[in-house]
Amino acid sequence: MRIPIIAGNWKMNYGPDEARAFAAAILPGLQELVTIERVLCPPFVSLPAVAEVIAGSDIRLGAQNMYFEEKGAYTGEISPTMLQGLCSYVILGHSERRGYFGETDELINRKVRAALVHGLRPIVCVGERLEQYEAGETEKTVIAQVRGSLGGLPREQVTEVVVAYEPVWAIGTGKAATAEGANQVIQLIRQILGDLYGEDAARAIRIQYGGSVTAVNIAEFVAYADIDGALVGGASLKPEFVEIVRQTVAAKMRDGR
Ligand code: PEP
Repeated sequence: MRIPIIAGNWKMNYGPDEARAFAAAILPGLQELVTIERVLCPPFVSLPAVAEVIAGSDIRLGAQNMYFEEKGAYTGEISPTMLQGLCSYVILGHSERRGYFGETDELINRKVRAALVHGLRPIVCVGERLEQYEAGETEKTVIAQVRGSLGGLPREQVTEVVVAYEPVWAIGTGKAATAEGANQVIQLIRQILGDLYGEDAARAIRIQYGGSVTAVNIAEFVAYADIDGALVGGASLKPEFVEIVRQTVAAKMRDGR
């Protein structure tokens, strides 16, 4: 039984004061929706402010990135030990990290391992770029990313990982994938996880969809049994985020999941 998970990636928005105010505004709505996991991922500097607001609730905190080393001469980086105790989750390998900052599957794999060692649950993003999509290379791209970023993990911890399938062409564009198309790729991801870690692990790992999710389209995605929630960017900066969670709760309840 997989517990659905909706995570809000605030990206480079909301410094501490704004983050505190926004988290306080959505907290009451989020707190009512206890049957699924709800995660807020503000920028690093705003993590403590949001942690204060959600203290005592079951809302989880996530970081948007992390380096794999524990400490040292890595100017500008944040280590797993710094996030430990503050965050439950960390987004790794987001397409903006891959695209703007040159992150490779190999680097992401090291980060995923480091997160697991330090008790942080990684939300690992994979997804094809527009030109790959148009060239019919979605499957090939996603298979390589899943094998590269998620291969060789400790078997006993692999079910801590959440995978987010985020076609790059759908991120921030207002052009979401079709739910059917997303479901096909997500089933493929589960199949690859099965090859890597066995059927039981693959059945237990949660896989989200991400890319222009809104309160209007979320229900279509989470109606599929294999889609365990969403990683939400733009819409997570608005009260609409609560409605996205509410729709997910309703859809999964309808299916008795
Ligand atoms: C994201 O940043 O992970 C994302 C899915 O963004 P958006 O919802 O804005 O497309």
